[in-house]
Amino acid sequence: MTRTAEYSQANADSSRWQRLRRIELLGLIGLLLLPGLAAAASRLEGLRMHEAPDYTRVVLDVSAPAEFSIFTLDNPHRVVVDMANTSAAPGFNPGMVAAGRERVTGVRTSVRGSGFRVVLDVTGPVEPSGFALDPVAPYGHRLVIDLAGGKRAAKPERKVVSRPKGRRDVVIAIDAGHGGEDPGALGPGGVLEKDVVLQISRRLEQKLSATSGYQAVMVRTGDYYLAHRKRQDVARDARADLFVSVHADAFKEPSVYGASVYTLSGRGASSETARWLAASHQNSDLIGGEAEIHLNDQPDGIKEVLLDLSMDANRIASIEVGAAILDTMAPVTKLHKKDVEEAGFLVLKSPDIPSVLVETGFISNPGEAKRLRSVDFQNRIAAAIATGIRNYMSASAPDGTLVAWQRRQGGQRYTISRGDTLSDIASRYGTSTRRIKEANGMRNDVIRIGQVITIPAG
Ligand SMILES: [Zn+2]
Repeated sequence: MTRTAEYSQANADSSRWQRLRRIELLGLIGLLLLPGLAAAASRLEGLRMHEAPDYTRVVLDVSAPAEFSIFTLDNPHRVVVDMANTSAAPGFNPGMVAAGRERVTGVRTSVRGSGFRVVLDVTGPVEPSGFALDPVAPYGHRLVIDLAGGKRAAKPERKVVSRPKGRRDVVIAIDAGHGGEDPGALGPGGVLEKDVVLQISRRLEQKLSATSGYQAVMVRTGDYYLAHRKRQDVARDARADLFVSVHADAFKEPSVYGASVYTLSGRGASSETARWLAASHQNSDLIGGEAEIHLNDQPDGIKEVLLDLSMDANRIASIEVGAAILDTMAPVTKLHKKDVEEAGFLVLKSPDIPSVLVETGFISNPGEAKRLRSVDFQNRIAAAIATGIRNYMSASAPDGTLVAWQRRQGGQRYTISRGDTLSDIASRYGTSTRRIKEANGMRNDVIRIGQVITIPAG
């Protein structure tokens, strides 16, 4: 979940070494040039792109911060990035980076005096914005150009299944931490938190959506960064009943291991680790590159009080969900802390939605790093989180949901196994296929192995 260069000695050493080598090379260039000519201050080493639902992010990897300017040209539409005092590193080649992109169809480069120009061919009029990002392992200095508008990618599909009145789905927003230029924590062998948490989140989504009465919504659907408040906006737009942020921990001691669950604290962090982790997490928007300046952020007295009140109710719900998830994770993995921890994570500051942050393990621990990238462990931890959420919801789902309605019916749960048919199950429990389908919001007789259904009482 955290900035990682300092937590992994191996990586810290290698980035220090790279820095040293760069200085050495710059020194060499300086020596070779005639006195009076300025040496190139920065070298362009790479060009990458991330596709987000409403923008394309172009990342220029540079050896040192460079002054740059951006402008657009029409007919055909282009975005031009001029970097002062910059040259291309030997072997720099944008290659096929534009292939299959939403807004960029080609990349061309040219030397401009002591500077360097990158021209992006774009599909239509776009609004570019640019900013610099400081190094965070495994990335170095970066210039970031965000292209908004133009050929818009389709909005992520948020399909709300219509249900009989009073039997809507429980909606769970699953937030895979970090993404894009924010790699999150870094584990041995170059494993990145942003990658493993997206994989675990997708498995969690599948498992929840396979349960009748539940709909899972992925907050981030690919390798791109979303600012903390945007993550909450996605959850709010989907009218989520619960926000689950999925992370993997890192600590300076590689021996530390285990999963934990955090909720937002209004009073301050509950332990020193929690305080430490929360403090490092606040930097995430800086690492990930939140280019916007929020003009509406000025505190507003009355609003603050209302937020505090609604946060109190949600804090209790958040702690209960967190405890249910800890219970179901315990048989699957060691727990770092056996109680729900509280910390001031920015991503959990969603006053209207109960929110938890699940640390699936320490990616800085070699054993856990290996597990976190294995399909088997990812499936087991995702299943444990899904079961914890369902256990909480089967007791506390909001009124108006199918799950709350099932609770009032006093039904029991049944997991479909190989060879089951709805009519067999119905006769075994002395009920009818029609009643089972009604209790589970099913439109046909299709059932899947592992699916959990409710058998109505009576
Ligand atoms: Zn994280």
